[in-house]
Amino acid sequence: MPYKVKVIKDLCIGAASCVALAPLAFELDDEGKAIVLDSVSESTDDELLDGAKSCPTDAIIVEDDTGKQIWPEK
Ligand code: SF4
Repeated sequence: MPYKVKVIKDLCIGAASCVALAPLAFELDDEGKAIVLDSVSESTDDELLDGAKSCPTDAIIVEDDTGKQIWPEK
């Protein structure tokens, strides 16, 4: 099931652990904030989830294809 991800820029502190764990999905922009890459579709769901879970500020939101939020857990 393909997950969807988004980054809440205001929460991102540029820790880059998401980039390390899911390099096809995330990159830091000029401001040192994570952005979602077009190649995100080449990441596995596990990579996306690991990247999101690694974020110290929970700035990465993961949803399944029905729009249900998978991470952070509510
Ligand atoms: S892990 Fe979180 S804080 Fe660090 S760059 Fe990624 S989104 Fe930003």
